[in-house]
Amino acid sequence: MCGALACSPVARARQVLLGHSVQGRPITAQVLGPDSAPRKILLVGCIHGNECAGVAILSALARRPVPRGIQLWLVRELNPDGTAADTRQNADGVDLNRNFPFQWEPVSNPTYYSGPRPLSEPETRAAVKLIGRIKPAVTIWYHQHEDLVDMAGGDRGIARRYAHLAGLRATCLPFLPGTAPGWENHTFPGTTSFVVELPAGAVASAALARHLRAIRSVESGEHVGSSTACGP
Ligand SMILES: [Zn+2]
Repeated sequence: MCGALACSPVARARQVLLGHSVQGRPITAQVLGPDSAPRKILLVGCIHGNECAGVAILSALARRPVPRGIQLWLVRELNPDGTAADTRQNADGVDLNRNFPFQWEPVSNPTYYSGPRPLSEPETRAAVKLIGRIKPAVTIWYHQHEDLVDMAGGDRGIARRYAHLAGLRATCLPFLPGTAPGWENHTFPGTTSFVVELPAGAVASAALARHLRAIRSVESGEHVGSSTACGP
């Protein structure tokens, strides 16, 4: 159900090729809703290849009708090589969430290796190209397993509303160089990019329903509390 929003009939989803990983795996988006929809929402199910519980949320979302006025872009796997190898990093050993071009800094710690320069990795370039093209009003990046929502910037009221509905703690984690939300929130003022850190393990069915409701709130632009402060 789409609640207060009218629903578009379930349209046949289309797949868009965004690029290829270091090892040549395709990186794709599933697009739901018409190009004419004014509000684009991007969800990335997995950027760290060993933190992929969010993929199940995107799969469930793809089976539901899309509210009128909304176009959903679902990128299940931005780091398919990492997922195949069950590693955080891509096949170059790069933490893609330290490879984005805003306030990039070299990080040599292998867990968080930044790559030799910003945008050195094809997966990061694919994401940047897509985001520059569709300029999503809201982007949600799923990670694990800190069990919280990081209201990274933009309108923090949107992320806070998501957290309340999903049953997660809303907070602001310390700023890190070269992250995807940091780049988006800086580069596209008026848009909101935030992180959902799911608990460890798979998403249980009750939690899945809560996340789908929370995504509906993002689609309809619900927000709660301060747009700038980090309080719960
Ligand atoms: Zn992560």
